[in-house]
Amino acid sequence: MTIDSALKEKLRQDNNKLSKRIIRETATAITDYNMIEDGDKVMVCLSGGKDSYAMLDVLMTLKTRAPIHFDLIAVNLDQKQPGFPEEVLPTYLTQVGVPFHIENKDTYSIVKRLVPEGKTTCSLCSRLRRGILYRVADELGCTKIALGHHRDDILATFFLNLFYAAKLKTMPPKLVSDDGKHTVIRPLAYVTEKDLIAYAELKKFPIIPCNLCGSQENLKRKEVANMLRAWEKESPKKVWNIFKSLAAVAPSHLMDKNLFDFINLRPTGIADENGDKAFDEETFPDHRDEDSPEDMVTSSTTPPDTTRQKIISIQKL
Ligand code: SF4
Repeated sequence: MTIDSALKEKLRQDNNKLSKRIIRETATAITDYNMIEDGDKVMVCLSGGKDSYAMLDVLMTLKTRAPIHFDLIAVNLDQKQPGFPEEVLPTYLTQVGVPFHIENKDTYSIVKRLVPEGKTTCSLCSRLRRGILYRVADELGCTKIALGHHRDDILATFFLNLFYAAKLKTMPPKLVSDDGKHTVIRPLAYVTEKDLIAYAELKKFPIIPCNLCGSQENLKRKEVANMLRAWEKESPKKVWNIFKSLAAVAPSHLMDKNLFDFINLRPTGIADENGDKAFDEETFPDHRDEDSPEDMVTSSTTPPDTTRQKIISIQKL
């Protein structure tokens, strides 16, 4: 084997591993949170960025392998930003053979008219977008709305809330919308942004730039992203541990009186092996231990048996 062909073979193997990892992590997240059920019609929100392309691509693969039946429809909201290349998404979606709907709504002009020059436009823009997407989901008869947020979006939102809103909260993998009518899911919740960047390159998605609206970059989000990147460089396991901790919350060992009834807390008289030792100092394993970060994503909750059996074979990819 020549050096050239050996390198090509190594690249092919790496790409194969990357695709398998993204598919496996997405299937695990879907199973863990019972995101997609038999008979669902999933509205896949497609912005033209790398994450939403990857989400659609992986959901299309899972649809062909899943033992349950669900439908997909890709939806793009054309907000009429100057320079938006209208033909890119319809061409791509026709090529890959997925049903799609393009919703045309000039929110760009509304935002420009209502938000004073120099002020941030994102909050009004996303509020308008949310309302439109909920309406479109109703009109198309969709039972789930899928968004392309990934693991690092979830972590960044967690730290933004912690640092600037004094709250322990983030974007959940599944939620009911504020109007109480829609189930929103985030199938890429376990996938890292690094993998999604590599996947977009591998798949040659026709990415549409995300700065067409001329909005300034959110500096706080950038600062948190840099912090996470530095931690990841120091130890990928440390970042995975933070992520895993979001699914391993101990309300009795935090301070929220609404989550745990500290006021009426009394001794039960029954010994509990996992109970608080109170006086002992906790010991922690060294996070530099060389565990593969891939091992960190495991099923954290057990969905109902029927759902688990239906979806379990998706994971054997
Ligand atoms: S970056 Fe632009 S398109 Fe995105 S939410 Fe902000 S204003 Fe809207």
